[in-house]
Amino acid sequence: MEAALSTLDEARELVAADDRVDFAFARHGFIATREDPVIRRDGGGTAYAFLLGEAPETANPSLWRQAQILTEHGLFKVADRIFQVRGFDVSTVSFIDAGSGWIVVDPLTSVEAARAAFALVTEHLGEKPVLAVIYSHSHMDHYGGVGGITSAAEVKAGRVRVIAPEGFLEHAVSENIIAGPAMLRRSRFQFGVTLPRCAHGEMTSGLGPCPSLGSLSLIAPTDLVTFTGQEITIGDVTMVFQLTPGTEAPAEMNFYLPQFRAVFMAENANLTMHNLLPARGALVRDAKAWADYLTESIRLFAGKSDVMFAAHGIPRFGTDEIVAFLNNHRDAYKFLHDQTVRLMNAGLTSREIAEVLTLPDVLRKQWFNRGYYGTMSHNAKAVYQRYLGWYDANPAHLNPLPPEPEAKRYVAAMGGASAVVALAETAVAEGELRWAATLLNHVVFADETHAAGRELLASVYTRLGFEAEAGTWRNIYLTGAQELRGGAIQLPPGGFSPDMLAATTTPMLLDFAAVRVNPEKAAARAFRINIELTDRDERHLISVGNGVLIHESGVQDGAAGLTVRMARPDLLMTLFIGLPFAARVESGDIAVEGDGSLYEALVDLIEPLVPNFPIVTP
Ligand SMILES: [Zn+2]
Repeated sequence: MEAALSTLDEARELVAADDRVDFAFARHGFIATREDPVIRRDGGGTAYAFLLGEAPETANPSLWRQAQILTEHGLFKVADRIFQVRGFDVSTVSFIDAGSGWIVVDPLTSVEAARAAFALVTEHLGEKPVLAVIYSHSHMDHYGGVGGITSAAEVKAGRVRVIAPEGFLEHAVSENIIAGPAMLRRSRFQFGVTLPRCAHGEMTSGLGPCPSLGSLSLIAPTDLVTFTGQEITIGDVTMVFQLTPGTEAPAEMNFYLPQFRAVFMAENANLTMHNLLPARGALVRDAKAWADYLTESIRLFAGKSDVMFAAHGIPRFGTDEIVAFLNNHRDAYKFLHDQTVRLMNAGLTSREIAEVLTLPDVLRKQWFNRGYYGTMSHNAKAVYQRYLGWYDANPAHLNPLPPEPEAKRYVAAMGGASAVVALAETAVAEGELRWAATLLNHVVFADETHAAGRELLASVYTRLGFEAEAGTWRNIYLTGAQELRGGAIQLPPGGFSPDMLAATTTPMLLDFAAVRVNPEKAAARAFRINIELTDRDERHLISVGNGVLIHESGVQDGAAGLTVRMARPDLLMTLFIGLPFAARVESGDIAVEGDGSLYEALVDLIEPLVPNFPIVTP
């Protein structure tokens, strides 16, 4: 029996027996929503009106149910003086009435979505100034919309405080830089960015509606939370913080509101098992830290909370409910971690562990522990990776052939592409979809022009997508099918918003240049350039040789062939955007001392980005 099919049967059973408590929580306190469900800039926005009634054949019923809950949208009263706008973005934004104004928690991904949420609040709850913004953690869907709530000028004038966990700014920026281009390409699969939004396409990521596409902003924090137990009072509301670094994000925090008996669990407790390693790629997260911090949250807050709200998903009501939820959710991460490690230490490899590891019945039947965003399968592999890395210790796997030559040899060994496609057809007929995908992937990697192989693989991916309980897996399979059939949709390389660039340190930007260096060109040259950034009073030394670019901050070399004095935007524009260096020198904006051609040699080393690299084909 195919694992995916048994999951499908289980999903049907669970949905049939649903007590619908989550639906009640999702609608609790509804006040109003927008008339136009699409938030527009020039397009974009979220609308999931198709998610009605029973699941169609094209959707796993458990994911269908999850998507219905996650796309309930509007302004909700969570408790006295605590409100949320949900369903406008992948994340939720919370508004806490601090008497003389609002504390706004996690202002969504884009300025447009945050502005729309704030407008809804103002329309129904009246006009109040913003006193503070809280970023619970360093992911873009929790700060990118801050420009729709307040402005850098308001913050600078001291009228609005911005509160974040220690390390926020560094991580907010660094997570998106060095590996940013690859993550962006891969995230199109995870979020189904190019899929139609319909019953046979994208229907949330399992964590929340599709992230809003709009303008990104970032305002640096004015207040950092540096220890658990730290209290900050805004207006007449006091918050008690719990730092949870290294859980869902490298810088993250929960907080408790004693006067409202309410706890905010950031993205540490969700309506799904979360990701330890998102499919878009990231530094692997720590399941043990996650479980341990949840244990601390339970000790600190659970028993004295009447309401729990969070940065995604739905709130929960009632102390017993909150205590049970946090305990059971914690136990899922603890089980995942401990049992993966137990099996690992008993000699199982990551693929073997992923195949056998399931939560105990009592935990796996709880909706919030099911794998809508993360899954037990890929999270078990993430735990293995965290401790042991990619190598499973089998010498055959130490240095195998890369996919393309390996596929050519497999296909030849199995009697040619037509024979392999025939084997795959049999596998499909027997419901062995994962095996069929493996066979057909070899066909496509041996010969990407094999039309029958491509089409059958696309149809297998489509079925795997329709059966998947995880929104992420569904999006990944359906995007794979889309790209096999029509090629990768050509999107431009991702850019950085001006706020994001301003917050990025020069060493981080020079790291980003270094990881784009053409090695042959850099091996053929050896030179040093002093850079003086006149607008920031910064000095950097760049040394090129042996195929690498080295940069050092606060260092200048008297023997360097060139010294360049310029403002930082000129450094960015000449290195990354193609602004001609010579023209800026001629206009007097850049001053040079020495051999100016060295700077042009430096620019020539940096390779263009490859925004649409192939994934499902060689
Ligand atoms: Zn998030």
